[in-house]
Amino acid sequence: MIAQINTPIFPRGEQLPKEWFTGNAFLYQLLTKDENNEFSVGSVTFELEARTVWHTHPKGQVLIITEGEGFYQEKGKPAKPIKKGDVVNIPENTEHWHGASATSKMVHIAITNYKNDVQVTWLQAVSNEEYSMVVKQ
Ligand code: MN
Repeated sequence: MIAQINTPIFPRGEQLPKEWFTGNAFLYQLLTKDENNEFSVGSVTFELEARTVWHTHPKGQVLIITEGEGFYQEKGKPAKPIKKGDVVNIPENTEHWHGASATSKMVHIAITNYKNDVQVTWLQAVSNEEYSMVVKQ
C-alpha cells in the first residue's frame, strides 16, 4: 500500500488574478452564493511569498487554515502567524491581507459573506517592503 503523505484535501484550482494576488495563488471554488447561503466557500492555495493585496469584506470573512504556514495582518496592527488548524474570524470593513510565509506555502478555506452582491473591496498591494518586515519578525 502506498502511504499518502501530504495529499491535499482539494485540488489547487485556477490561478488568481495578479491585480489582487501578489505571487502565485490559486482558487478551488467549493460553494457559490445561493438562495440559502449568503456566502461563498473556496480553498485558496498560496505558494511561497504569495499574498492577497490589502482588502476589506463588507460582512467579514472566516479563514480555516488547512495546510502550511502564513500570516494574517490587519492595517496598523502586527501581523499574526497562522498555521494549519487555525481559524481567523475577520470583522467587516477591516483592511487586511493574508498569505503564505517566505518558507512555507499556505492553504486556507475562505468563507466570505456577501452584503447585497459585494463580498470584497480590493485595495493596494502589500509592498515587498511591508511583506519583508512581516516575515523577518
Ligand atoms: Mn480577506
